[in-house]
Amino acid sequence: MGKVALVTGAGRKNGIGAAVARRLAQEGVDVVLSDICAAPAELPHGGNAAWAELTAVAAKVENMGVSSLALRVDVTQSAEVRKMIAATKKKFGRLDILVNNAGAIIGPSPVRYMAEEAWRRMMEINATGVFLCCQHALPLMIDGGNGGRIINMSSIAAVRPRIYMSAYAASKAAVIAMTQSLAQEVGEFGITANAILPGDVDTGMKQWGMKLEAMVTAQEYDEVLSALVDRIPAGRIGQPEDVAQLVAFLASESAEFITGQAINLTGGRELS
Ligand code: NAP
Repeated sequence: MGKVALVTGAGRKNGIGAAVARRLAQEGVDVVLSDICAAPAELPHGGNAAWAELTAVAAKVENMGVSSLALRVDVTQSAEVRKMIAATKKKFGRLDILVNNAGAIIGPSPVRYMAEEAWRRMMEINATGVFLCCQHALPLMIDGGNGGRIINMSSIAAVRPRIYMSAYAASKAAVIAMTQSLAQEVGEFGITANAILPGDVDTGMKQWGMKLEAMVTAQEYDEVLSALVDRIPAGRIGQPEDVAQLVAFLASESAEFITGQAINLTGGRELS
């Protein structure tokens, strides 16, 4: 029987989650794709209603010859997360790879002016969401007796926080600490847990950040982008497929001995 993966935050066709789902499908893995599918008005950075986008990503995955399941899930809601795992169990009977990718970012804000709600929301989505998905997925993974992989999306911001990004950085640092503690807890079941720390990846989230920077600094978007690329030793911005590639490796048999790690994926940006 083939492996089954669950990828949260997979509803944006140009996002990291969708690239991860496609990459795992390439490996013959069946994929559960979930996303909050927010209405445009709820999004800080606009965008369209994501359910259609999520099901389109799921259809693409199916076209690659594996099965998929698309679910509307807010990772901050334990009842929804519980149902997501139950639906995974019902359709596939197992879960081998959990990719906690769902995440959000808020605009820069000095701590003294930050809305308390904004801080709480960052922690809820980026940290509590990861905790809830792990908590509810683990019994299914452990009961399967086949070992497994947990891959949590942190950020380079966790270890190289930029000014005014305290809430996002703290929430992503929490992901690393949680992953490293969890790795010790689940090793006996043959499950590894690792965190990926992407740098700058060309997705809707990053583009929104660069547009904001362009506005605040009265520059063109392309100027912001090219100044960013100048600071990346690899000479380009990251692509969702770069992250997907690392996820596929961590999910593979070859990565059996890698656990509790926080792996930078930045093109070397943090060095410059
Ligand atoms: P993205 O396209 O915005 O993907 C994030 C996805 O998570 C979106 O589909 C978003 O839905 C969804 N989401 C937000 N809140 C959710 C919730 N409560 N429950 C379920 N889903 C929720 O951005 P991305 O760049 O691919 O980000 C993927 C992950 O990588 C995130 O954890 C992000 O923090 C991390 N990361 C990204 C970068 C980068 O440069 N892009 C760098 C470091 C780390 P909506 O769009 O509907 O809100």
